[in-house]
Amino acid sequence: MTAKVIDGKLFAANVRAQVQVQVAKLREEHGIQPGLAVVLVGEDPASQVYVRNKHASTLEVGMASFEHRLAMDTTEAELLALVQALNADPAVHGILVQLPLPAHLNSDLIINSIDPAKDVDGFHISNVGLLGTGQKSMVPCTPLGCLMMLRDHHGSLAGLNAVVVGRSNIVGKPMAQLLLGDSCTVTIAHSRTKDLAAVCRGADILVAAVGRPEMITGDFVKPGATVIDVGINRIERDGRAKLVGDVHYESAAAVAGAITPVPGGVGPMTIACLLANTLTACCRAKGLAEPEGLTA
Ligand code: NAP
Repeated sequence: MTAKVIDGKLFAANVRAQVQVQVAKLREEHGIQPGLAVVLVGEDPASQVYVRNKHASTLEVGMASFEHRLAMDTTEAELLALVQALNADPAVHGILVQLPLPAHLNSDLIINSIDPAKDVDGFHISNVGLLGTGQKSMVPCTPLGCLMMLRDHHGSLAGLNAVVVGRSNIVGKPMAQLLLGDSCTVTIAHSRTKDLAAVCRGADILVAAVGRPEMITGDFVKPGATVIDVGINRIERDGRAKLVGDVHYESAAAVAGAITPVPGGVGPMTIACLLANTLTACCRAKGLAEPEGLTA
């Protein structure tokens, strides 16, 4: 069997196009422009690229983009004051503080100071609790993107066995909650899981969010399963830099029914879902109907 490739790049382009249409509609019918504020502290090179991409994508769909680049030695009080100002700013509907923050700043404290209604990353403790109890929340972008692609591929996910490898707060746990919300039977695996390959082979849906290059090989995959590879790992092979996932693509694709590639799978969906979340946050703030198909 050769797996169907789930094209995240194309899927993300469709999501961005839907957001763009809705943004234009908001402007025409209500005179509203959704706005996203992104805060970057320090000069981490990967974060700078992410923030640049977010800025360009925000403008592209017709939203307002507010970029705040702060010096590495910014104090907690200064950052909290900026977040408070953004919370109070009616032109800002979504706030994202780029992680990781420098070590002298308490990430939990900063994230939990964001107005939960503007927390488009979905990391605020209130949103985590709302998601965990099946209530309307802001959903973390990467798992939301995975869910959208899974719904598109499978239709209903009800009754499918899902295994999520990884239990981080930003990917693994919210991914498991979303799958549970769609009535999958969910297992969360991690570094202490016994016989991981056997656990994974029970999965109709296998989500890898491990951070270990190509760890999930074909012998972890049930024939016909859908494999979602969240991993983004920069490795060197044959003297050249290469981006690979947490899944060993060739061996897994030979067994799976469908698979996301790296690059071009989950990655592009993350920014698309950030835009979708900003649109959702704006609609909720204004008491307008939420865009269909762009939320969990
Ligand atoms: P993380 O916080 O480092 O969590 C990794 C998880 O994998 C942990 O729960 C860990 O288990 C588990 N793990 C590590 N080694 C394992 C092993 N040998 N067997 C089974 N489980 C193991 O990573 P993350 O932030 O969730 O990110 C995961 C991957 O997704 C990374 O490659 C990251 O770059 C990528 N990512 C991509 C996007 C995107 O936009 N596509 C967004 C976010 C992250 P323990 O808890 O037991 O330590």
